[in-house]
Amino acid sequence: MLFTDFPWLIANYKQLVLPLIQGRAHHALLLHYIQGSGEDMLIKRFIKRLLCQQVDGQDPCEICHSCQLFDADNHPDYHLISRDKNKQSIAIDQIRSLIASIYEKSQQGGNKVIWIKQASLMTEAAANALLKTVEEPPENTYFILSDDHNCRLLPTIHSRCSSAFLSIPLLDESIAWLKEREPQYSENELATALLLNENAPLAALQLLAVDRWQQRKQFCEALLELIPDNNYWALAKTVDNEQFVDWMHWFCSLLSDALKAKQRAGRFIINRDQVPLVRLIARMESQQIIRLYDLWRQTEERLLTVSGVNKELIIHNVLAQSELVK
Ligand SMILES: [Zn+2]
Repeated sequence: MLFTDFPWLIANYKQLVLPLIQGRAHHALLLHYIQGSGEDMLIKRFIKRLLCQQVDGQDPCEICHSCQLFDADNHPDYHLISRDKNKQSIAIDQIRSLIASIYEKSQQGGNKVIWIKQASLMTEAAANALLKTVEEPPENTYFILSDDHNCRLLPTIHSRCSSAFLSIPLLDESIAWLKEREPQYSENELATALLLNENAPLAALQLLAVDRWQQRKQFCEALLELIPDNNYWALAKTVDNEQFVDWMHWFCSLLSDALKAKQRAGRFIINRDQVPLVRLIARMESQQIIRLYDLWRQTEERLLTVSGVNKELIIHNVLAQSELVK
């Protein structure tokens, strides 16, 4: 898809670029976003504009040598720092080798750009090393730090950067945008896919991919059967360790929907396409729903943050424990 297929990104892009056109751009930008709202596309276009050597107003020219190098993922004055595979954080070594290279002269004679993806993953030492450079940057050097809006960043980083938030469309606008791409789904399904992803349109689009949406449907159907018998163990037969993170997210949202239904706050329900299931869960006592929610939420955190554990053991444990929750 083209950048112009994402109307909200165009609006966000214009705001980011305006200070550049006006010659008052800050050399360090901190961009917060909701995951799956087009953050990578927006940032890449902005970087391309910073590196372009024949800028045409707000847009990169797309044809100069710089633009071509960037498209080929081979621009010598562009450095991307992200978490190494199998690592939990961005280490100080990564920042040190970056700093060494940005004090060299720009190879294409234009700007130099550094993008730190998921900036909150920098260790404190890495962040402090970076901050020194951000405070006294080499000439024509731009830093872009990006991360999810829920992330925790050091206050010192906030204070050294100009902050921006990638704003997303209203729910109705996103539903219309998705409807054009996935006309086979009902409005309730489209709204559900968005609400499960904090309204981020691209994350919703991914969830609506046939296989994944089918997985969610099957999971919900399994819950409809097992909840009356309190037989969570039945899920152990079909569970896939990688899929389980999705299941936990979906189940927690169904549990919180059931609480909303009990409190007659039905209009805030996320799983609009699963009303019978939400009603079924809402027959439980509130305390039981809250305990189940806590159990599954804690497991979600353990599975996401602890590495090298036996995932299957944790999954089997939460299924067995769910049957004991009263
Ligand atoms: Zn260009």
